[in-house]
Amino acid sequence: MTAPKLRFAPSPTGFLHIGNARTALFNWLTALKSGGRYLLRLDDTDRERSKPEYERAIVEDLAWIGIVPHEIARQSDRLERYAAAAEVLKRKGLLYPCYETAEELERRRKRQLQRGAPPVYDRAALRLTAQDRARLEAEGRPPHWRFKLSGEVVSWQDGVRGPSHIDTASLSDPVLIREDGQPLYTFTSVVDDVELGITDVIRGEDHVTNTAVQIEIFVALDASPPAFAHHNLLTTASGEGLSKRLGHLSLRGLREAGIEPMAVAALAVLTGTSEALQPLASMDELAQHFSLSKVSRTSAKFDEHELAALNARLLHNTAYATVADRLLEQGIGGGEAFWLAVRANCEKLSDAAQWWRVVAAPTRPAIEESDRAFLAEAVAALPPKAFDAASWREWTSLLKEKTGRKGRALFMPLRLALTGLDHGPDMAHLLPLIGRERALKRLAGEVA
Ligand code: GLU
Repeated sequence: MTAPKLRFAPSPTGFLHIGNARTALFNWLTALKSGGRYLLRLDDTDRERSKPEYERAIVEDLAWIGIVPHEIARQSDRLERYAAAAEVLKRKGLLYPCYETAEELERRRKRQLQRGAPPVYDRAALRLTAQDRARLEAEGRPPHWRFKLSGEVVSWQDGVRGPSHIDTASLSDPVLIREDGQPLYTFTSVVDDVELGITDVIRGEDHVTNTAVQIEIFVALDASPPAFAHHNLLTTASGEGLSKRLGHLSLRGLREAGIEPMAVAALAVLTGTSEALQPLASMDELAQHFSLSKVSRTSAKFDEHELAALNARLLHNTAYATVADRLLEQGIGGGEAFWLAVRANCEKLSDAAQWWRVVAAPTRPAIEESDRAFLAEAVAALPPKAFDAASWREWTSLLKEKTGRKGRALFMPLRLALTGLDHGPDMAHLLPLIGRERALKRLAGEVA
């Protein structure tokens, strides 16, 4: 058996959104689980809408989320291959020239609908003689080319939807090549899937109807079709379809908002399942939770509040090594001890900066007049040696004994003086990070 090979095939006409990430990840996780390869195919035959900057952004955004393709192909580099495949179909009489204008087609469609007939292309072009065609071309009407469907029922076993079939008699013969010579996606995708050795196609269910047509093109090119799976689509929380053009929930935007890539990846894949809110630290862990058989057939709402909650949960469990570089980039020191002290208080990684300032930057203590005497005793009771993880307990136990204060009355004035805030990470962890010198000054009311 050949090793599986999957592909993700976006058109570089905008930034990837969370729904695109879902498709990209379904393919990636399938490749990961099966030891398969992963191709990023840039469907850039639409020259007006495709942009190199979007292409770069796609590669970057995929890398951010944890996908590094084994191979990249660009459809604009493969135009000769499509022309060669088109010749094969023409020789077989399966790709035929048509000369109707868009207006003519529209008029015919309206007439069909008025008669109650399905608005399917009537194949008038197949009845043209060689002379008719020569005349039309002499008039300067270049043809567009349609693929001749079999008119039979095409069946496949869909990896998500189960046994599926479409009667191609209910479809118009699809246009594969436009009159300006541009080959269209329906066709180029099949040629690529054949020639680049794709074994499994996982894509959104908006492509289900293409599948019957594409299976017939595979057969016409003497290739066996890959296995198909069509997953449900994500919508916004209000039920709107996601759009690359409208910039809905773009990976870029989520990254700029400081969301962790693994939170985005996990929710993109698991939205709509009972496992959606589990903090998963790595792609391997996510792979263990992923299965096409868990994907529902109804659309799933992507909820940004869930994403924020998952992001916080994930950070609370994130190891220092995972975030070390990004903390340093933000000028946050303190190493592992600092991260472990503050991670439970971070909803986003950038929240660590606030706690770093509390630890390492001049901070104004908050002191109530009525606590001054207590704080003077606290200074006297500070453990004399360098602080460690046990210092806070030793200190507050001693203070409790000496002053009779307990609970909030004991702890809050210390927290307010040492951090300037009435909430925050566990003081037992913060105290050694603040250090003796700063602590002494802050307890005495100095900005330090
Ligand atoms: N370029 C197509 C799209 O973005 C690819 C569909 C497919 O996976 O076949 O919808």
